[in-house]
Amino acid sequence: MEGRNKKGYICGINGPVVVAEKMTGFGMREMVMVGEKKLIGEIIILEGDNATIQVYEETAGLKVGEEITATGRPLSLKLGPGILGNIFDGIQRPLLRIDEISQGFIPEGIGLITLDSDKLWDVEVTVEEGQYLKAGSVYAVVQETPLIKHKLMLPPGMEGTVTKALPSGSYNIETKIIAIKHSYGTEELKLYQMWPVRVPRPVRCRKSIEIPLITGQRILDTFFPIAKGGTVAIPGGFGTGKTMTQHQLAKWSDADVIVYIGCGERGNEMTEVLEDFPKLVDPKTGLPLMKRTVLIANTSNMPVAAREASIYTGITIAEYYRDMGLHVAIMADSTSRWAEALREISGRLEEMPAEEGYPAYLSSRLAEFYERAGYVENLNGTDGSITVIGAVSPAGGDFSEPVTQNTKRFVSAFLSLDRKLAYSRHYPAINWLSSYSGYIPLLKEWYEENVAKDMIPSRNKMMKILSEESKLQEIVKLVGEDVLPDDQRLILETAKLIKVAFLQQNAYHAEDTYVPLNKQYKMLKVIEKFYDLAYKNIKIGAPISKVKDKSIFEEINKMKYNVSNTDLSKLDELENRIESFYEGLYKNYEQEGLL
Ligand code: ADP
Ligand code: MG
Repeated sequence: MEGRNKKGYICGINGPVVVAEKMTGFGMREMVMVGEKKLIGEIIILEGDNATIQVYEETAGLKVGEEITATGRPLSLKLGPGILGNIFDGIQRPLLRIDEISQGFIPEGIGLITLDSDKLWDVEVTVEEGQYLKAGSVYAVVQETPLIKHKLMLPPGMEGTVTKALPSGSYNIETKIIAIKHSYGTEELKLYQMWPVRVPRPVRCRKSIEIPLITGQRILDTFFPIAKGGTVAIPGGFGTGKTMTQHQLAKWSDADVIVYIGCGERGNEMTEVLEDFPKLVDPKTGLPLMKRTVLIANTSNMPVAAREASIYTGITIAEYYRDMGLHVAIMADSTSRWAEALREISGRLEEMPAEEGYPAYLSSRLAEFYERAGYVENLNGTDGSITVIGAVSPAGGDFSEPVTQNTKRFVSAFLSLDRKLAYSRHYPAINWLSSYSGYIPLLKEWYEENVAKDMIPSRNKMMKILSEESKLQEIVKLVGEDVLPDDQRLILETAKLIKVAFLQQNAYHAEDTYVPLNKQYKMLKVIEKFYDLAYKNIKIGAPISKVKDKSIFEEINKMKYNVSNTDLSKLDELENRIESFYEGLYKNYEQEGLL
């Protein structure tokens, strides 16, 4: 075949972008080896004899005239056991293993090493000779980590009869486990499959979204729920809590697998992630969180092209685990750093810039990323989901900039972080007025069946109080609180309770860091009970000063710390106390009214 020894030559180098000639016969999006060091690159423009290549490694030292070598395939990942617990760069090179080889940097021309091919896995082969398998069918399983049973599946597009199957045993990922005879020949399948990062893995069909991703974070689960298979953006200026929120979701959400893409915000932030994550413990099992997590790390000293590729690498890995019938949550922190990589490469290509220098295709690239989320029926008939949660970090916290605005078009939940709240140490600093979740109508039934019939109505009532409060605050600013009638002052007091007792949640507090849904519900009902009874009293003339009982308020504000997550009886007691206090008060004023 002509392609085998195809070679082109470098005729220009501009940072991560290399221009090459004599490239006829190469393919668009083909992965190539660039220069004597065989740096990994990808053809992004192909015009006649000339090609433009983005290079995933440091290009300093490359020279005009050096060779470009074909690989005959697009930039692809190795999908198989050994992904979980690993830390990769943007093109799936294992950073820890590379670190062992070369202490702290990725040596040039190390090539596409990915999964460890020496490690032996206990493989249970689940098929026999003669069996007919379809795309997505499972042919073997491997306990990849104590938490995840990894299913080896026929790749999309393949079906046929098993003509060889090894007995179960201990094998490395290069072992040919089975052979499949199909209409155009026989193929041997190893413990992994290759998949091009920029192509979504096919599914049988998309299913409706109706199950929440439970996070244990009150402002999310109760006020702005996230759905399994949903899309979420977390925009916020520097220091408002994006990373913290992403970490809380990685730690606590009820996803089976977490894919965490870190695009180093600050110089040392990614180092923190690399140090912190391996120490995190999965709260459900007590095992290290890394047993169900894969990290993709871009430090600020890595080439921008690798950062550009990282979100595709992440989402492709997510799709692979979804195909096994798992629920995957993928976090990207932050997509703004990714968009900047896109902008830098586009600038090098001298493309016509659109808004703020970003390329015109920023929007379609973001759409392509978020569209790979969803709740689906896989090719093998199992259900799986990918929930995409992207942080956005607009400069100066200005949400009108292109990355925030374009992201907003493609996500259904928007958790808007607020600098004022963060400054006043109201955490999580998610602004309840500018955030939204389009999933509430889709999840309503689930909440009715699994938590309580009136969970969403109660939530809506509390939201109404919060929005009324913000209007009243405008008046208070002008004329002070004292001139307001007592029913309006009750709105202010109740809103304060909702904020302090419910919305504020301390990620560092053992009991408060994760709160189960039934406790969230009961806490909500305590505040609602207070409001309803207090309102009844105010209506018959009880003054706000009497309604605002110090000890009741204190108990409500402290219920998150004083009530354990496993014994909610104290919340019932609190509700009873509120009831008897306000009924007593009512009786007093009722009698006064009669006098
Ligand atoms: P960003 O990623 O937006 O720059 P971070 O996530 O690093 O911001 O948050 C900055 C700081 O805010 C954290 O170090 C932490 O002290 C505080 N913080 C944010 N969210 C919470 C929370 N839910 N509970 C307690 N502290 C928080
Ligand atoms: Mg951050």
